[in-house]
Amino acid sequence: MIPFTSYRLPCFLLCFFIFSLTESACSQVQKQQHNIVIEQYACLPCGQDCDNEAYDKLGNCSHCHMPLVKKSTIHFKTIQPAAICNYIKKHPHVILLDVRTKEEFEGKAEPNFGTLKNAINIPIQELAQRLSSINILKNKEIIVYCSHSHRSPQASYLLMQNGFNNVTNMAGGMSVMKDNSCIK
Ligand SMILES: [Zn+2]
Ligand SMILES: [Zn+2]
Repeated sequence: MIPFTSYRLPCFLLCFFIFSLTESACSQVQKQQHNIVIEQYACLPCGQDCDNEAYDKLGNCSHCHMPLVKKSTIHFKTIQPAAICNYIKKHPHVILLDVRTKEEFEGKAEPNFGTLKNAINIPIQELAQRLSSINILKNKEIIVYCSHSHRSPQASYLLMQNGFNNVTNMAGGMSVMKDNSCIK
């Protein structure tokens, strides 16, 4: 028969070994969990309900098929159409950027929703190529608008991604403007 003490030590060592193994594995997992910041993705802002959905990986929005972008990169501000005329009166130096077509901007398209006084026009289709021409506006306050706030959030996003740091999107667009005092 084996005396009691002869297997007590190996048993103790084995137990200790297993314990330290599981312990280090555990802390490894905890460490990893700690370091992972879960990145969320969202529809490239298109002004539709799908903008509010979160995805956990890159791809395309399942509703409007826009490419998904990191949610943390979407940070332009929003102004309501009811507030815009007053805001412009109080902040006369704000740049108003109309991203509709030239025809819409000039009131030659049907329906004609009107154009904000003193706005400049760069159609969204041309915005990426024309960014260098408005470099001077990078630190200016810019309000972007269109007809239904579908194009302007995309334009706002593009501007912020390119270093324009004070960009506000007008919600709703010209089609819901009721205050005529800042429309020409
Ligand atoms: Zn969207
Ligand atoms: Zn979408």
